[in-house]
Amino acid sequence: MTEKTIVDLVRESHKDSTSTSPQEGSKRPGGASLQGQAERMSENIPVDKGVEEALEKLLQNVRNKMAWSEVKLPSQGLLYPNNETSIRIRPFTFEDERLLKSQASQDNPETILESLLRNCTEGIDVTTLTPHDKVYVLFCLRGISYGDNYPISHDCVNCKVTSNLDMSIKSLETTPLKREDMVFTLPDSLMEAEIKLPRGQDEHLWNTPESLMANMHMFVYRVGEIMDKTIIEAFIHKTTVRDIDTLRTRIFTPEYGMENHFFYNCKGCNHKNKVDIALNESFFTAS
Ligand SMILES: [Zn+2]
Repeated sequence: MTEKTIVDLVRESHKDSTSTSPQEGSKRPGGASLQGQAERMSENIPVDKGVEEALEKLLQNVRNKMAWSEVKLPSQGLLYPNNETSIRIRPFTFEDERLLKSQASQDNPETILESLLRNCTEGIDVTTLTPHDKVYVLFCLRGISYGDNYPISHDCVNCKVTSNLDMSIKSLETTPLKREDMVFTLPDSLMEAEIKLPRGQDEHLWNTPESLMANMHMFVYRVGEIMDKTIIEAFIHKTTVRDIDTLRTRIFTPEYGMENHFFYNCKGCNHKNKVDIALNESFFTAS
């Protein structure tokens, strides 16, 4: 007869109690009642405690590495309803990796990253994060999970020689968002404009040049004293391209957050190359 665990016994006992003939289930081949068997097995619990203690010992150095830590957001709390300036993060676990790999075949990368963020952060709903904050948090997560070095390989634009570069996530500079980035004077109308910055969930509103122009007024909170969306939309249609260009740059490519590129000199020809920092295939591997 194979050994039964307490869990198995509980399951069988549940099955028995719901079966149409409860009498049959109360006796097992070998004579012992379920009750008696479970009682005898519960005497073995000190052994399980030993297992727990042993595991605890093996994981003693992992505990604080798996702890939640706080990360200051580049947006500085200027963009969120409760002025949250930071988010709590914890490293990826085996379970997170497993989830990612099982989802990788079916979902789009954005959905996968979002569910990963949801698991590993606390304090702010990840769908409301600005794209800049989101990228920053992802790189922080990678840093605490796999280490600070982020391998990037790049082909020289001049001589095509491949360089394997090791970027340090900590060394990347982060520019905090300032109030002046969101309230400024337009160059031609000389009106003061106040803008809102897009969130991850807004991407469909501006991911093509047409939708960007059609929806720009939704990200303009105020022009002069006017907050009426219809008037603001009409203003956008009638003002100069220089005003529009200022609004477009400030709203859709704001200059805050983590550095998004770096330079290196090619070993082959000494050409200075610019490399964009993006999530690459090394993102979920140890460096
Ligand atoms: Zn080169």
